[in-house]
Amino acid sequence: MKETVCLVSLGCPKNLVDSEVILGLLAKEGHPLTTDPSKGEVIIINTCSFIQDATQEAIETILKLVPYKKEGNCRLLIVSGCLPQRYGKTLEKELPEVDLFVGTGSFQKIPDLIVQAGKRKSYLSGQTFLYNDRTPRILSTPSFTAYLKIAEGCSRTCTFCTVPSIRGPYRSRGIHSILKETERLAEQGVKELILIAQDTTIYGEDLRDGTSLERLLKELIRIDGLRWIRILYAYPKSARFTDSLLQLIGQEEKICSYLDLPIQHIDDEILRRMGRRSKGQEIQDLIHRIRTFVPEVALRTSLIVGFPGERESQFKALLHFAEEAQFDHLGAFKYSPEEGTPASRLPHPVPQEVKEERLKILMQAQKKISLKKYRRMVGRNITVLVEGMDQQKGSLRGRIQTQAPEIDGCVFLKGKALPGDWVEARITQALPYDLVGEIKKILP
Ligand code: SF4
Repeated sequence: MKETVCLVSLGCPKNLVDSEVILGLLAKEGHPLTTDPSKGEVIIINTCSFIQDATQEAIETILKLVPYKKEGNCRLLIVSGCLPQRYGKTLEKELPEVDLFVGTGSFQKIPDLIVQAGKRKSYLSGQTFLYNDRTPRILSTPSFTAYLKIAEGCSRTCTFCTVPSIRGPYRSRGIHSILKETERLAEQGVKELILIAQDTTIYGEDLRDGTSLERLLKELIRIDGLRWIRILYAYPKSARFTDSLLQLIGQEEKICSYLDLPIQHIDDEILRRMGRRSKGQEIQDLIHRIRTFVPEVALRTSLIVGFPGERESQFKALLHFAEEAQFDHLGAFKYSPEEGTPASRLPHPVPQEVKEERLKILMQAQKKISLKKYRRMVGRNITVLVEGMDQQKGSLRGRIQTQAPEIDGCVFLKGKALPGDWVEARITQALPYDLVGEIKKILP
């Protein structure tokens, strides 16, 4: 009888897809799966480690699960993903309770490593594994939503980022493999497909065979059953947003009027020291072009405050930009110096309290923008994808096309519907980051 496995997935949706692949491979080998660590004979923590906070969360999660080796059924504690890939064999000393450390290039071997356990502790070699349509995968998202990883790694050199050193260079999946997987997901009932990579806009370029994001989208919209195709992680480089790509996004109903555009900053000097390949004016022109081709577009971005040397005037420029650009969704972060990155060696670090103050000011501005935008939706009838009961609110919750799962707000709903239902709802109230609505009818 194969051992029961419990997997805990940390970090971003790209890591979540890796976790789903690990679950698929284990199930194929006959391992029963559980979400209850007390029942796990093997416990796997698939970790994130791209910034200190994520590393901290990974270590806290590991230490919280170690007791199951003494008090629970756990025979084998495995740590996989970005933490072992980033910190390597040093972890063997720091976390002696862990039996196996498996990097991003070896997680596909976990079923075999469970059998061979004891020979050695760390498996850290090889490029990050990139699955294909024949790789078993068990979705951990609700059955009507799925992330689709279209490429792995990153070949850019942003000076604050550890991802290229952890995940390796950019590699696209073959377009046929992606289409086959998508057909299977659609047959399984997936309605919302979320395209992910470190940068979705350069998809296919490394294949040098004409494959591109635009070509992929044109193929994906032909697959029956899909209703929403969403693009995340679109690096803001103007050249990648061709008029024809923006036209396609603007005209195709299945492609969400939604773009996640991680901009990080707007000041040219800061952008240059961040190693970003765009200038401030180019970014503002790009936002204008996107809104010209996709008037209803919802834009999400992420911005960093407190990058080394950031003067008050440069922060003011960033704040002014955010107030002008009026993003629908904004994730702002305090700069985190990451060991081994060029930016961590830059002079003039910004004091912590100044970073916190700048973050607070930026998010206060965004809160006003988000509320004002949501107030304009009150009274409108909108299509909502019902996700299920929100335990905290005690009401149904769902999302509109301009809200991505996990990272954006939602719609709290009055009325009856089931998870996965599409409903028409009348928006009755705006909250700073969420909406409230009344279900009018269930849609086919
Ligand atoms: S584009 Fe820059 S920030 Fe994004 S993963 Fe690549 S190196 Fe990191």
